[in-house]
Amino acid sequence: MEPPDRASEPTPDSCAALVVAAGSGERLGADRPKAFVVLAGRPLVAWSLAAIAAAGVPRAVIAVPPGHGAAAEEALADSAGAFPFGLAFVEGGATRSESVRNALAAAGDADAVLVHDAARPLATPEIFRRTLAELAHADAAIAAARVTDTVKEADPDRLVVRTHDRARLWAIQTPQAFRAATLRRALDVPVDVLAQATDDAWLVERAGGSVRVVESPPANFKVTTRHDLAVAESLLC
Ligand code: C5P
Repeated sequence: MEPPDRASEPTPDSCAALVVAAGSGERLGADRPKAFVVLAGRPLVAWSLAAIAAAGVPRAVIAVPPGHGAAAEEALADSAGAFPFGLAFVEGGATRSESVRNALAAAGDADAVLVHDAARPLATPEIFRRTLAELAHADAAIAAARVTDTVKEADPDRLVVRTHDRARLWAIQTPQAFRAATLRRALDVPVDVLAQATDDAWLVERAGGSVRVVESPPANFKVTTRHDLAVAESLLC
């Protein structure tokens, strides 16, 4: 990986948020893509957009399921006052990383980007700001919660082969902050490599880049199931 550009401190106003909202959310069993399910009176993705705006980030690109651009704009129109910034919509890809790549291509001349899962409606403005600030010290900075359970690794027969040192383990979340140029290079790999990435920082790691974790609360969880949706609703109401 080329030397990182850390000449200037990343600031929210030179940054764009890339919000990936193109998943189907099959496990939620809803009648619409997960990011547009109504949560405490707003589309789920609107909660993240409000936090991003409150963090001082002036623009966001949202990757939505193919064919959903108009419906997404309409769904968010009512919440527009909550996020006074430029919103752009792009079509998502077949995998999460392809959705990130499409969103990055529409991010204009942003110096830094904050990639965020629409499915994490409880991310706070503070975690967006702290993650971006940490980018001054690494090629990527990623929100993460300390692991409190003991984590064991098992083989396909469920026989435990290893117990990991919990003190060094982090459960990785979003937002994840990158210099736009760094992320562009990391994403410039074949689609089969993109398909293996469960987060974007891994693509930076495999290219030899440094990644730092930024401690974030477990409340910044990803809404996957109906139960998660009910928990998020109770926390937001
Ligand atoms: O599938 P998973 O829960 O890991 O998705 C995390 C985030 O990535 C969600 O916000 C989802 O909408 C988004 N995603 C996407 N494009 C895909 C798959 C997932 O934008 N092809």
